[in-house]
This record gives sequence, structure tokens and C-alpha cells, in this order.
Amino acid sequence: MNVQDSEKMACLMEASGYKTTDNPGEADLIIVNTCSVREKAAQKAYSQLGRFRELKQKRRHLVLGVAGCLAQQLGDKFFKMFPFLDMVVGTHQIDRLPEIVASVSRSGGRLAETEFCGHVRSLDIPAQPLAGKVSSFVTIMQGCNNFCTYCVVPYLRGREQSRPLGDIVREVENLSLHGIQEVTLLGQNVNSYGKTLTQRADFAQLLEAIGKIPGIKRIRFTTSHPKDLSDTLISSFGRIQGLCEHIHLPVQAGSNKVLRKMKRGYTVEQYKERVAALRRVLPDISITSDMIVGFPGEEDDDFNQTLELMREVRFDGLFSFMYSQRKGTPAAEMEGQVPDEIKRERLNLLQSLQETHTLEKNRAIIGKTQEVLVEGASRKTPGDMTGRTRSNRIVNFTGGPELVGSMVNVKIVDAFSHSLRGEL
Ligand code: SF4
Repeated sequence: MNVQDSEKMACLMEASGYKTTDNPGEADLIIVNTCSVREKAAQKAYSQLGRFRELKQKRRHLVLGVAGCLAQQLGDKFFKMFPFLDMVVGTHQIDRLPEIVASVSRSGGRLAETEFCGHVRSLDIPAQPLAGKVSSFVTIMQGCNNFCTYCVVPYLRGREQSRPLGDIVREVENLSLHGIQEVTLLGQNVNSYGKTLTQRADFAQLLEAIGKIPGIKRIRFTTSHPKDLSDTLISSFGRIQGLCEHIHLPVQAGSNKVLRKMKRGYTVEQYKERVAALRRVLPDISITSDMIVGFPGEEDDDFNQTLELMREVRFDGLFSFMYSQRKGTPAAEMEGQVPDEIKRERLNLLQSLQETHTLEKNRAIIGKTQEVLVEGASRKTPGDMTGRTRSNRIVNFTGGPELVGSMVNVKIVDAFSHSLRGEL
């Protein structure tokens, strides 16, 4: 979602006469768009801002701003931490960016705008097809009402708000007219799409409508909450041709005790039942997940249950993290905070188990022919092109730039933990 917010900010500023540059040294405006879901992301943003101090001293007219979740969280406290900063733009104020930049440039003063609005107006800014791209993100909702005990999102993005179905469909139609073939629908919890709309619609209906748009060959979405994964939505996988055979379904832990403390709203048994239901519809569906290790109160036995769940489900891929204490969340105040060295040890064990599962899953595809949407040239190997299968696996193969944007058949000849090797 941050990537898409950054794209929207670039579009808004381009409409005000700015052009994007890859060189910060020649920029008149720099915005550091931040994430604060984990401490590491926040630290990265602070270091990035620190690196711009010298630039700001050299180029007095440069407007330097911070946006995103960290901006929402800290507001004008940012000015104390970085006195050379000009503006702080909260998560509900993105649409006002040109106005805020103009005001700061005119007055030479500082501005922090972090108010929450009843309606997030930036949701109405349609995604623009970027030159040379075949895929696009489309935000369908923002915010979350779940309040998992470790998560800052509901506090920093606000409550759930969905966009009207018709607006989303029109946006995707426009993207398709401009050559976009793959859309990824974004939201903090896409499965609960539509609950805030006056003209009720649900996520399965939205998928159905997008599935009918000519030219859209692939539909993906993220992120899904297991407790809201309905049977109707699961059956969409068998029904809608464009819907890719992949779901990212964060489980977070394999122990019911930990899931309860996280306030996730499902049990391990319920999660496994949803996985089984998905596999009944599509036996080879790729299932990826998120896992947090070292949540407060997690004991060896809980962690072993997480490993057990992984052995049972055999995820195609896993994003795993050490629990990161976020100020203002209930989990940050819980007893039984797990020492970092134990978290690290558990993370290493978990990641090496996942590596064997990912390799096993990837190797099972060797010899099969996969449909690949070619995204561009490989950054690592000259002469190689790169693209993704419908199951969201990266495939590298020998080919020319004329293939960018095409759907090609590639025979998989080798498999690694992060990619596949294929032959056109
Ligand atoms: S569902 Fe996701 S975004 Fe919402 S509170 Fe839980 S972890 Fe955060």
C-alpha cells in the first residue's frame, strides 16, 4: 500500500508541474514515505532522513517531507527529531500534498498535517498506468477494524473504509485500456471489503466484476484475513478465470494460546480448515503466509506448535519476523516479553524449515510448463528476462526485451528457494 501511496503522491505532484528524478541531488522536493509496522522499518526511515540533512543545507529551497504511518504516529514531534524537515503529511492527508508543498514553499515555514478524515480522499485518486508496466496496484479499501494486539495499523490508518465497487471497476477498465494485464487489489483486510458501503457489495462480487473486464488476465489480492475468508470467496478461485492460484493468508502463529493473545479471531484448527477448503477447490493453490516469532508469552511449546503447523500446511512461502514492540499497542505492555536472542534463535529455526518447504514446492514444478507474464530484464543476469507464474513465483529465462508484457509459456528446468529457472 505504501508503494501505491508513493505512486499517488508522484502523480499528484506531476499534475502540479513536478517531474520525478532518480537523483536526490537535483530534487526540489523529497518525500520519505514511511512504514511503522516494525521498528526496523522506522529505523530505516530515520536513517534516510538523516542522510538528506546535508542536501537540505546545500539546497535551501529543497522541500523535505515525511509521509506515511510514521508521520501519522509522530506528527510534529518529527520537527524536534529532524529540525531541517519542512513538512509532515499524515495517512489521511495525501490528497492535499500539492497544497501543503505550495504553502511550505511560499512561506518557508513548517507544516504538520495529520488529521483523520471521515472519508480518506486519496482513495479516490485512481491508479495511473505507469509507462512500460504490465501490472498495477489498485487500492480497494483502507484502514482496519480488527485491532490485533501487536498492530499499529488501525491507529495510524484509521477504521476500515471501502471504495464503491463501480469506482474500482472503472479504474481497472481504464488501466486495461492502457495495457495493464495484471491487477493486485490492495487493502489491509480485503476479505472484509464492502462492509462500510451504503450500496452493499462484498469482495467475491468485486472479484466477479473485475474478472469480466476484457484485457485483465490476472487478478491478485492482498491481504486476506483468515477469519473473513468465506466459502463464497474460496469458490471464486474455481470460478473466475483471471483469479491467480495464489493466496497470501497470514496465520501469525501456530499456537491457540498465542493467537488468542494476538486477538486474531481464529484458532489453528479453523485456519487449517480454511486451507483444506481452499485446496478442495484448487489442490495446487499456492499458499503463503506471515509468521511472528517471540510474541509476548510465547514459550518453547507454542513455538513448536508453530513449526508443527508449518509441517502440516507446507506453505509455498513465508514472511517471518521477530515480534517488534510497537508503542501504544496492547502487546507492548504485555508480560512475558521474549528476549531478542531467543526470538532470533526461533526465527532462524523457522526460516530454515521454511526454506526446505519452499524448495520442495518449487522443485515439484520442475519439468512443468508455466504461463509467465514477462515483467522486464533480469537485474542480475544480462540476456535474461524475468516474470511471474500465476502462483506468483519468479521465473528467469533467456529471452529478449520484445517479450516484456507478453504472456509466454516457459518450461521449468531448475528451482531455487527464491526463483525458478525456465526455458521459453
Ligand atoms: S488485521 Fe492486519 S492490519 Fe488489521 S489489526 Fe490485524 S494485523 Fe493489523
